[in-house]
Amino acid sequence: MNTTDNTPKGDELFKNIISHCKEYGYIFPSSEIYDGLSAVYDYGQYGAELKKNLRDYWWKSMVQMHENIVGIDSAIFMHPTIWKASGHVDAFNDPLIDNKDSKKRYRADVLIEDHVNKIDAKITKEVEKAATRFGDSFNEETYRSTNPRVLEYQKKIDEINNRFKIAMDNNDLIEVKQIIIDCEIVCPISGSRNWTDVRQFNLMFSTQMGSVSEDSGLIYLRPETAQGIFVNFLNVQKSGRMKIPFGIAQTGKAFRNEIVARQFIFRMREFEQMEMQYFVRPGEEMEWYNYWKSERIKWHRSLGFSESKHRFHDHLKLAHYANAAADIEYDFPFGFKELEGIHSRTDFDLKAHEAFSGKKLQYFDPELNENYTPYVVETSIGLDRLFLAVISNSYHEEKLEDGSERVVLRLPDFLAPVKATVMPLMKKDGLPEKAREIMDMLVWDYNCQYDEKDSIGKRYRRQDAIGTPFCITVDHQTLVDQTVTIRYRDSMKQDRVPTYTVSGLIAEKVNIKNRS
Ligand code: ATP
Repeated sequence: MNTTDNTPKGDELFKNIISHCKEYGYIFPSSEIYDGLSAVYDYGQYGAELKKNLRDYWWKSMVQMHENIVGIDSAIFMHPTIWKASGHVDAFNDPLIDNKDSKKRYRADVLIEDHVNKIDAKITKEVEKAATRFGDSFNEETYRSTNPRVLEYQKKIDEINNRFKIAMDNNDLIEVKQIIIDCEIVCPISGSRNWTDVRQFNLMFSTQMGSVSEDSGLIYLRPETAQGIFVNFLNVQKSGRMKIPFGIAQTGKAFRNEIVARQFIFRMREFEQMEMQYFVRPGEEMEWYNYWKSERIKWHRSLGFSESKHRFHDHLKLAHYANAAADIEYDFPFGFKELEGIHSRTDFDLKAHEAFSGKKLQYFDPELNENYTPYVVETSIGLDRLFLAVISNSYHEEKLEDGSERVVLRLPDFLAPVKATVMPLMKKDGLPEKAREIMDMLVWDYNCQYDEKDSIGKRYRRQDAIGTPFCITVDHQTLVDQTVTIRYRDSMKQDRVPTYTVSGLIAEKVNIKNRS
C-alpha cells in the first residue's frame, strides 16, 4: 500500500514521541500518581523489552564478538575513597547560573554551547543558500574557506570557544559569566540578561551507609559505571589470564544530580550506561582511540540509521582524566546531541587508585618483559539516550491510500519488543483455539502476543503503534488447509503461508545476524 509520511519535525515530533511512549507502554513518568519525580522515568512493558534488546545487542557486539573483551557486573555502592581518587569528589561539577527574573537554572556551558550552535546554524544556512545558487559547480570547502560572512561567523565561534576553554581550564567562573554577558545571551523564558554569578555544583548523590549518621558512613551513588571496572582491573586480568590489549565491559545504573533535566530520557538523574574500558600499552592509546571511534560509529549505523544521523564532535575542553575525547552525536528531534563518548583516559584512573589504595595496579607484559600501568580507551554510551535515538528514528505518522492514518514504529525487527502477534479473525468457530496452538509454538522462539479484541483493522493499528513487525492471522481457511496470513508492519503486505513455515520465517527475520 502506498503511504505518505506525515511525521512532524522538531518540537512537535518530540512531543508526539513522548505521548506515544506513554500511551503505548514504553515510558511512564516516575511516581506519576504523586505528580512525578523530575528527570526520573519508568520503562513500561514494551519499553523494558526494547531496552533489554538494545542492551543485549550492545553486550553481544562488545563482549561476545570480541575474544579479548569480558563483561562484569559491579555494585552500585563502592568505597567512598574511589570517588576521591577518580576526581569526582573534587571535579565532577557543572557550572550553574540562574536567571533572576525567570528563576530558572541553567548550565553555563550549555548556554554558551547553544549560542555557538546558533552561529553555526547561520553558517549552514549560508552554505545551503550558496549551494542552491551555484548548483553543480558549488565547492563547499572553497566556499567555507573564502566567503567573508562565513569566515566572520567562524571567527566568532573560535573566539568564544577559546575563551570558554581557557576560563574552564582556570576554573575562572567570573570569566564564564562575562562570556555569557558579552555574547548577549538571554534567558529563553524571561528574555532577560539578569544573571546570577556562576557557581560550581557537584553532581554526585550521596547517602549514608549503615546506621551511624556520621561522615564516615557517607557513600555515593555511582555517577558512572567505569570505576567499578578500574578497581576490578587486576581481579579480571588475573582470574581471566587476560593479555593486553583487552577490554572489560559492563552495563548498569548511574546517578547524577543534573542541574537542568528537561529533555525526557535524554538527561535523567537515574540512567543506565553501557561502558567498555580497553586496556592498552602506553603509547598505543591514540591508535586504539581511533580504532574504537570508527568501530563505534559503524555499530550505530548497524542499527538501521542513515549516515547523516550521526556525527563526531571532538572535545575542546577535556575532562580531568582524558588526553583525547570525542562524542558521537545523534540528530535528536531537538538537534545534534551527545549519544556516546569515546575517551582516551590515559593511566589516570589506575594510577590514582594505586596512589589512594596503596595497592599496585600494574600489568606484566610478557612480550616486553616489563611492568607498566596500562592506558585506557573507553567507549561510554547511555542506554536511555540510545533508546531515544532508536524510537525517534522509528516513529512515523503516515497517511494511507484510503485516507486513514496510522502511527507506526518502524523498529529494526531484531529490536522490536514483540516480534509477532497471533490473531484469530473472529472469537468463534474454533479460530481462537487454533491461534492459541500457533502462539504456543512460537513463544519458545521469541516474544509473542495473542490478541483477539476489536476488529482486525484496529488490532493491526495497535501492533503498528507498538512496532510489532509481524501479525499472524488465523481465519476459517486455516482450519481447512493449515495456512495463515502473515502481515508485514512496514509494507502492510499480506502473504498466505503454510502454518508450519511461520516460525522459521520469522526467526530468520528477527535474527541479529540478518539485521539490515
Ligand atoms: P553530557 O555532556 O550530555 O552531560 P557527559 O559528557 O557528562 O554528557 P559522559 O560522562 O561522557 O556524559 O557519559 C557517557 C554517556 O552516558 C553519555 O554519552 C550519555 O549517553 C550518557 N549520559 C550521561 N549523563 C546522562 C544523563 N543524565 N541521562 C542519560 N544519559 C546520560
